[in-house]
Amino acid sequence: MVAAQRIGEVRQEVRAARARGARVGLVPTMGALHEGHASLLRAARADGGLVVASIFVNPTQFGPTEDLAKYPRRLERDLEICRREGVGLVFAPSAAEMYPAGFATTVHVARMTEKMCGACRPGHFDGVCTVVAKLLAIVRPDTAYFGEKDAQQLAVVRRMVADLDLGVEIRGCPTVREPDGLAMSSRNAYLSPAERRQALALSRSLAEAREAVLAGERDAGRLAAQVRQRLEAAEGVDLQYVAVVDPDTLEDLGRVGDKALVAVAAKMGATRLIDNVVLRGLKV
Ligand code: AMP
Repeated sequence: MVAAQRIGEVRQEVRAARARGARVGLVPTMGALHEGHASLLRAARADGGLVVASIFVNPTQFGPTEDLAKYPRRLERDLEICRREGVGLVFAPSAAEMYPAGFATTVHVARMTEKMCGACRPGHFDGVCTVVAKLLAIVRPDTAYFGEKDAQQLAVVRRMVADLDLGVEIRGCPTVREPDGLAMSSRNAYLSPAERRQALALSRSLAEAREAVLAGERDAGRLAAQVRQRLEAAEGVDLQYVAVVDPDTLEDLGRVGDKALVAVAAKMGATRLIDNVVLRGLKV
């Protein structure tokens, strides 16, 4: 496994892999890797060729009052996980490598970034899109792998790739959960034992929403209200939003058709968590 900090090294390694006829898969991450990330690495590995993982805590996607400085950084452990999962190339650049003096470009996806997490975190998706566009330009993978855990991010990245004809396949991978249902997240490490217990209300409310849809509920307003009521009643949960939207366009649904994304965000103490359930292939 090669660990590169410079863009030039990455291009060289990718060029060598291409010369061998290998396909290239990219898994972008902010490090502090867990089983959710590992599942993306395994999906990439299963497709064969060179698996590239990027580890970069991207400053431009954090707001001024967010957790950039205390975001967990565990590079040695992350490299070990990458090695174990068959990653061929890790790209762990500095902020200066990604944003040298004079950097002046922002990639902005309109409308679908203005709601849900975009409304709570102004500028967040500009940071995400800009860094993902750069990573795709640096690595030029055949396929890039993203988690459904960040469902809005996945939809926004798909939109950007389509709009800019970036010519990369975006693969969404299912959310990996703890045995009790909590969606895995690098931010779970911030939770106190009490908050960790209380956070289960998120995945439980979403599991109930799924059950309701599978039992025939098609009224998006009623579904959202059910989840909201459940979370507003839950101890320790400071609810930010409940959204019932189309998983591809993120447009609000009046009625649920063949697909729906039910997404929530909440603060547990100082820690902001998100979770969602994606329902596809529903009977209409
Ligand atoms: P992050 O390091 O949090 O920026 O996440 C990097 C990638 O891993 C993103 O595509 C996330 O959606 C994905 N990811 C994070 N947590 C999970 C999870 N629990 N299950 C599946 N994918 C995840």
